Amino acid sequence: MTNNINRILVLAPHTDDGEFGCGGSIAKFIEQGKNVFYVAFSTAEDSVPEGYPKNILELEVREATKILGINPNNLIIYKFQVRRLNYVRQEILEELVKIRNEVKPDLVFIPSPNDLHQDHYTVAIEGMRAFKQISILAYELPWNNITFHTQSFIKLEECHLLKKIEALTAYKSQQGRFYANEEFIRSLAITRGTQISARYAEAFEVIRWVIR
Ligand SMILES: [Zn+2]
Repeated sequence: MTNNINRILVLAPHTDDGEFGCGGSIAKFIEQGKNVFYVAFSTAEDSVPEGYPKNILELEVREATKILGINPNNLIIYKFQVRRLNYVRQEILEELVKIRNEVKPDLVFIPSPNDLHQDHYTVAIEGMRAFKQISILAYELPWNNITFHTQSFIKLEECHLLKKIEALTAYKSQQGRFYANEEFIRSLAITRGTQISARYAEAFEVIRWVIR
């Protein structure tokens, strides 16, 4: 089903959301020779933990996406203010339209429209607007989802999961978060894998699916 999909765009409100939501799938797509683009909307300079430089998340996302195998030229970083993305939703939409015309993706990953974080929700909604004619899958961030529909799955192998864990480990400044640990990432992959009798998987909501 992914034979016609060659250009994949991942929308991450904050720098590590894409890795949490679909890092294993990114590693799998790269292994299959697909062209993956990653857009981060905020480097969250206002919420960097004490002792780190303000641009730490920019440095960390460069490292993490490199680990997943994303070409550095395919990484687009915006500096919108964290927790304020809804204030600039029109600017974000206009940037997404530019990205749509430049990248011409076949498949777009967005946060779930059921995500409670205002920044995640904004990127989900504007992503749906900008890419309404293209296949869209929405990734889960369980600590922000009350409802999540596991409608689609991407099966992962150990090597993909290891890349995801390694990429998330690159976020040294974020290691204090309760979900930023290998045990949780592995457990979720096992849970999603169990739903499709595979060892590991990532699950997605189907927002739009286009077969060309
Ligand atoms: Zn986030």
